[in-house]
Amino acid sequence: MMDYDSLLNRRIKAVPPSGIRKFFDLLEEMPDALSLGIGEPDFVTPWHIRNAGIYSLEKGYTKYTPNKGLGELRRQISKYLSRRFELSYDPLKQIIVTVGGSEGLDLAMRCILEPDDEVIVPTPSFVCYGPLASMSMGKPVYVETKVENEFRLTPEELRAAITPKTKALVLPYPCNPTGGIMEKKDLEAIAEVLRDTNILVISDEIYCELTYGGEGHVSIASIPGMYERTLLVNGFSKAYSMTGWRMGYLCGPEALISEIVKLHQYGIMSAPTVSQYAAIEAMKNGDDDIRKMQEEYDGRRRFLLQGFREMGLECFEPKGAFYMFPCIKSTGMTSEEFCTEFLKAEQVAVIPGSAFGPGGEGFVRCCYAASMRDLAEALKRMKRFIESLKTEE
Ligand code: PMP
Repeated sequence: MMDYDSLLNRRIKAVPPSGIRKFFDLLEEMPDALSLGIGEPDFVTPWHIRNAGIYSLEKGYTKYTPNKGLGELRRQISKYLSRRFELSYDPLKQIIVTVGGSEGLDLAMRCILEPDDEVIVPTPSFVCYGPLASMSMGKPVYVETKVENEFRLTPEELRAAITPKTKALVLPYPCNPTGGIMEKKDLEAIAEVLRDTNILVISDEIYCELTYGGEGHVSIASIPGMYERTLLVNGFSKAYSMTGWRMGYLCGPEALISEIVKLHQYGIMSAPTVSQYAAIEAMKNGDDDIRKMQEEYDGRRRFLLQGFREMGLECFEPKGAFYMFPCIKSTGMTSEEFCTEFLKAEQVAVIPGSAFGPGGEGFVRCCYAASMRDLAEALKRMKRFIESLKTEE
């Protein structure tokens, strides 16, 4: 008889399964439900990008690529980051092509953390940061951001969370699930706190192409004094609607990247070849696709915001990603109760804010990467659901 319990690493066992997954299991039993749950673009990857993948297969490009990724792709990533965000990364020494932004985040944590090192994680935020830190032996320190600050991390909140054990700060903006962004002035204030420390920023900029109005996304790495203390995580999933291709990249100081590449080399070897060829095409000729999808999301965002406000739900205007985070406290329910009851009564899936860490309770995440028809139907049903709660009282 095997004793799996004593076999398993206790840090892995201690990590709870994702709060989002639990909800999706419930959803699986309702195949006809409308879903504003999944955080994934609803568009198919643009044809010319798919075609580049197909063409690479026709040509027989089916072998491993260099560990860090195809040279041409790294050159294109470098050009893109310079063109869009005024960042300068050497394609040979400072960029690794990864299996989605997810691998980039994992590599960033694993390369720096020693037992009980602390990683500051602003919440509510994407579910993986804390568990990745824990599974890399580190300790997540959650900092609750506030709706009154539009879920930005403030310098005061950051300062209060720093201890002698702090090794890194995750900066998750534009933010999943709140849609919050950090503008240049906000980033400058964060930079001011970090400037004389040895704390590394792990900046998850996967939604950088999805901001609405204002100055557009600014990378923390472009703020004076931050380039040398930032690992930039990015990828193709959201901007080009390429989630299934599993394409991302990690950029940073050469001294870190040259060590991180060992983790990638021994654990992964190289990211999928077909996806790398598709990604080259995305970087070269994908600007129009980004613009069209961004405009479409913006229309949906306005539509949903107005809908929530009309039904009396408080909702701050999100300026990034493709999520709304309305407050459901007025219903008197917890976010998990609200989502479960709403799903049962109206077959619409939205995600409890509590799944995204401290500060998420009292809110629900609604993803507007869905058709206008589905969004209109979901709004109609939510209005009916909220009214039914009022009559119950
Ligand atoms: N970061 C954030 C904030 C996300 O929402 C996601 C996907 N939902 C990822 C990273 C990972 O994306 P991928 O691995 O597909 O690049």
